[in-house]
Amino acid sequence: MPVIDMHAHAFPEKIMEKAVINLEEFYGLEIPNRGDLEGLLTAADEAGVEKIALHIAATKPSQVRQANDWIAAAVATYPDRLIGFGTVHPYYEDYKAELERMATLGLRGVKFHPELQNYVLDEERAMALYEAIGDRFIIMFHMGDERSHRSAPARLARVLETFPHLRVIAAHLGGYESWEEARKYLYGKNLYLDTSSALWCMKPEEAAELIRAHGVDKVFFGSDYPVATPGEELERLHALPLTEEEKEKILYTNALRLLRE
Ligand SMILES: [Zn+2]
Repeated sequence: MPVIDMHAHAFPEKIMEKAVINLEEFYGLEIPNRGDLEGLLTAADEAGVEKIALHIAATKPSQVRQANDWIAAAVATYPDRLIGFGTVHPYYEDYKAELERMATLGLRGVKFHPELQNYVLDEERAMALYEAIGDRFIIMFHMGDERSHRSAPARLARVLETFPHLRVIAAHLGGYESWEEARKYLYGKNLYLDTSSALWCMKPEEAAELIRAHGVDKVFFGSDYPVATPGEELERLHALPLTEEEKEKILYTNALRLLRE
């Protein structure tokens, strides 16, 4: 069965070590993988993952351009393997020009992480940016933080009510550790979820129930590398009490359909 990993990270060598330590500290996790692009591609090869959506999120406005250049260079090096998700910070002044540049660079999506980017998902400046993005790019949101509520599911519901034509993926089954809120505000609506950093937090039956509650045609597989390897997450996905047909949709055909739009 072919597989697309819709949620993976790798970092430029220069900042990699610091970036992984920051993630470990922020989430209280131990991350066993280095976070380099070669490591991601090797892990994907071992798991038989065909294509990988590679994400980066600029934690400061001043990092936006170089972060997008790095993603574009990675995609240019591995055009058959990588799907580029670039970044714009909501406080980056010249966001309209950067969106044009991202389209020229061949990037397909924009990744947002309200906690690490230090903004609130539905604040005014971010809303203007989402409006400018429109349906040109797929938007991937990190979702869920019970400590800050910056990326709370209810906030994303407000964004989608204001801009219903956005093409949104809500990561971590709609809200890391906020699954009941995600169910209430997001499930069944016109958006996608991914399975990254969620399957190891719950029982297989619970994950399968959440996936079906939203709709199995609107869920993608994601590893959240370097938090986990694609192989580890594939094992978890295959352990869910879903049919082979449902798994094929999550692992491949749903993502293919969105990427061909
Ligand atoms: Zn992510």
